[in-house]
Amino acid sequence: MTAMKKIPQSDLEELRIALTTERDNLEEELAGHGRVLNDAGDWEGASIGFDGEEADPNDVADQIEELVTNVPLVAELEEKHTDIVEALEKMEQGVYGICEEGDEPIPLDRLKANPSARTCVEHALD
Ligand SMILES: [Zn+2]
Repeated sequence: MTAMKKIPQSDLEELRIALTTERDNLEEELAGHGRVLNDAGDWEGASIGFDGEEADPNDVADQIEELVTNVPLVAELEEKHTDIVEALEKMEQGVYGICEEGDEPIPLDRLKANPSARTCVEHALD
């Protein structure tokens, strides 16, 4: 076992609050642009407020436009949401802040800039 540089408790709390706040904001945003698909918490972009009864062509065009915007938007929001939920789960398990690629600790500065980072800078995919 290598000695792991532990994240100070106060920083960890700060990061937890940042993650929780961002998660709540994302869930609000997701609810405004999509709907929950299943119990696993997957989301899909949707045209909100479409009741399926009115067949006004203008409404239909609006709904299609809304879908075209919301589907990729929700996919992007959901990806961020998943990262945050997983980061919070790692905190619960005491394995937060470990690079997923190299198993080394992610520098605290990077976590503060991006609390849901999965990897260190060297192993970041983009
Ligand atoms: Zn790494």
